[in-house]
Amino acid sequence: GVPEVPARPVAPRRMSRRIHVGPVAVGGGAPVSVQSMTTTRTSDIGATLQQIAELTASGCQIVRVACPTQDDADALATIARKSRIPVIADIHFQPKYVFAAIEAGCAAVRVNPGNIKKFDDQVKEIARAAKDHGTPVRIGVNAGSLDRRLLRKHGKATPEALVESALWEASLFEEHGFRDIKISVKHNDPVVMIEAYRQLAEACDYPLHLGVTEAGPAFQGTIKSAVAFGALLSRGIGDTVRVSLSAPPAEEVKVGIQILESLGLRQRRLEIVSCPSCGRAQVDVYKLAEEVTAGLDGMEVPLRVAVMGCVVNGPGEAREADLGVASGNGKGQIFVKGEVVKTVPESKIVQTLIEEARKLAEQTR
Ligand code: SF4
Repeated sequence: GVPEVPARPVAPRRMSRRIHVGPVAVGGGAPVSVQSMTTTRTSDIGATLQQIAELTASGCQIVRVACPTQDDADALATIARKSRIPVIADIHFQPKYVFAAIEAGCAAVRVNPGNIKKFDDQVKEIARAAKDHGTPVRIGVNAGSLDRRLLRKHGKATPEALVESALWEASLFEEHGFRDIKISVKHNDPVVMIEAYRQLAEACDYPLHLGVTEAGPAFQGTIKSAVAFGALLSRGIGDTVRVSLSAPPAEEVKVGIQILESLGLRQRRLEIVSCPSCGRAQVDVYKLAEEVTAGLDGMEVPLRVAVMGCVVNGPGEAREADLGVASGNGKGQIFVKGEVVKTVPESKIVQTLIEEARKLAEQTR
């Protein structure tokens, strides 16, 4: 499971209202959770559940599924029942699927008001159904599908336009006494996105779902998301995150988890402290770091492992880590909890580190 107590959070969290997405607490100081979205046809129940299982295994805590057709809507009940993590139905265009998703027992529904015709007229019924079933609603505003009125008013999807759209929709729900709401205001430009969330965080106490929409292929999307989430989370803003990548969804989860770990919002699991190598290196640091990372993949206990190329910073970093190696002269000094436990030939470094890591893991169990 995911540790409840954050390691050393980057900043105090913004105190948002708490909602529950299935069993997962969101907002009100609950740990920031990682979301992703399936890429299968939702109507293909087997494939969707299989992908949800893979996402669950990679650490995903809440999953969203698209619901563009009646066949997809019909599949929701089974998927929601069989998934081990809460399922959010993602609804555009057709309000009837909002009701179907609520009836199906989805843990939440995401609505995009900009994409649902006459959405405002239907809020009353949606609020009533959601309240009856205890289903929270995410108001998911997106730059690419901003409400036409606001697009006309602001000229384009500015931070102000995104925020105005979200708060307007929230106010319609509030009129019916419904406040079980989470909000997102996604944009593909981190600068606009950061400003939109900053303004939104000031203007309301709803929990916020962070996302840079259409962030791009893995490399670019990872950087955009890390920069944007970092800027917001370092101000305490954000209660759930989704990294959008044009890549398999399990990759999104890995990136999301790494971002939270980097900001001290989640206890780190395996952390490799490896040097970039330089002209002093006496060992192939890249290869060593990669082999150690691969060898320790999946280790559940938190471990900080230093892989250093020479004696300049090697012994210092290795001593600070749970486990480490400082290389030189074809040999590696192996450190465990700050002490040199042995010196092994270069060819044995990886194997020795993995053995020592396992021993440490056994002791922490
Ligand atoms: Fe270079 Fe040594 Fe520093 Fe690695 S630890 S970057 S090899 S000086």
